[in-house]
Amino acid sequence: YKVPTPANEPVLPYTPGSKERKEVSAALKEARNTEADIPMYIGSEEVRTGNKKPLAPPHDHKHVLGHFHEGDRSHVEQAINAALGAKEAWAALPWEQRASIFLKAAELMAGPYRAKINAATMLAQSKSIFQAEIDAACEMIDFLRFNVHYMSQIYAEQPESAPGIWNRLEYRPLEGFVFAITPFNFTSIAGNLPSSAALMGNTVVWKPAYTQIYSANVLMEVFRDAGVPDGVINLVYVDGPTAGDVVFNHPDFAGLHFTGSTGVFQHLWKTIGENIQKYKTYPRIVGETGGKDFIVAHKSAKAKEVATAITRGAFEFQGQKCSAASRAYIPDNIWSDVKSYVVEDLKSIKMGSPEDFTNFFNAVIDERAFDKIAGYIDKAKANPMNEIIAGGNYDKSKGYFIEPTVVVTKDPQSLTMCEEIFGPVITLYVYQAERFEETLELVNSTSPYALTGAIFSQDRYAINLATKKLVDAAGNFYINDKPTGAVVGQQPFGGARASGTNDKAGSVLNLYRWVSPRTIKETF
Ligand code: GLU
Repeated sequence: YKVPTPANEPVLPYTPGSKERKEVSAALKEARNTEADIPMYIGSEEVRTGNKKPLAPPHDHKHVLGHFHEGDRSHVEQAINAALGAKEAWAALPWEQRASIFLKAAELMAGPYRAKINAATMLAQSKSIFQAEIDAACEMIDFLRFNVHYMSQIYAEQPESAPGIWNRLEYRPLEGFVFAITPFNFTSIAGNLPSSAALMGNTVVWKPAYTQIYSANVLMEVFRDAGVPDGVINLVYVDGPTAGDVVFNHPDFAGLHFTGSTGVFQHLWKTIGENIQKYKTYPRIVGETGGKDFIVAHKSAKAKEVATAITRGAFEFQGQKCSAASRAYIPDNIWSDVKSYVVEDLKSIKMGSPEDFTNFFNAVIDERAFDKIAGYIDKAKANPMNEIIAGGNYDKSKGYFIEPTVVVTKDPQSLTMCEEIFGPVITLYVYQAERFEETLELVNSTSPYALTGAIFSQDRYAINLATKKLVDAAGNFYINDKPTGAVVGQQPFGGARASGTNDKAGSVLNLYRWVSPRTIKETF
């Protein structure tokens, strides 16, 4: 069979009085008023260890949303055993049966679970309804539907044969289990990493960031409701080093699907390398890590468009995106216009709890992130080469709130121009308009990352030059658009260099990593 290309799930408007607005408001209220008790899911069991850890909304950190049951190494071992136990039957299931399960999950997310997953993401990850809708609803639904379509493409691909010979490719899953490590910043990524590997016939041990457990629990409810069999996706809450110690010493470890920090990913890669002789097979390592994503404007660029890309690219999702714009290079001929548009635009941004739907901008995820980001702002303030033209204040008394902050620097190698901050801070550098080509060199050499980047220009020669010069600087390159907001099926997403293995989430390329095909040649 071939599954037709789906359409992207439409983003609902949530206008006051709309059905979807009422539903998500009710779900928010219910979640606020119920103290969730969140188990791990191992095989057929809901595991409650009694070692309960509280979960709080980042914008209201004294409120207890619920508790999760933390596990230890024995739970990771059990999860691996459950995954290995479920493997044979799952892998033997005709692929269209696996497809049906995940297509059903997409329908559940689009309908009955939409309000619940959005409310969970709003409360536990501090996202406005629009951020939640784009991430937890639409992107997650798109991942599920498009992955099924891509899977059908992969399975349809067969080698040539010859008279008297029939060659075929048998698309088998990896031999062993897959370990998914997922981040807090996108509910859709958290759902996609285990489900894409599982779709291809693998069984999975899934370890979310602790700050993502609340919505991971809802995703797991959807997967179970959709009919994902016991043991296919096992969800454990165990600290990273403990979980890693069990997983990476296991002979059946066959793949890592990771989104998170560059430092952690490099450490895991090293560990896997050190243990390589312990494994039955070379593990697949797929990772999306950091970014220091750029906007570069040419002298022909429209100032208003550049300014909008700066404010939206840097501050949507509180800047907690690998793809967030965090350095921009503006030519001096349009600088004063860009500056006034940026400053003006930021005046209209309302910061506060996502439970108030009029707030566009919410809290950062936790105290550690808050302190780190605030530290960068302090250092930026202390540098005499810098000027803060917007924001710069922060307050963690009720929630982890940091104002959208714009630093203008005279030093293109200053700290906030080079290091990933993963928060609402962007640094701008004004260059002499005639030095466009040198500036492109600067963009390319300033950061070890290569995730996303954008060129703004009305001049086709300049666009062509930037496209060529920045060929290795970004896995996702945007012409006259902000460097964020990749849509599944439209802009396959991922970067190279220190940003990851560039296996492009939301495309057929990612799914290839989760199969280990067998070639069969039969002679008659
Ligand atoms: N795919 C998202 C985008 O294009 C970013 C995902 C991430 O931050 O990891 O903006």
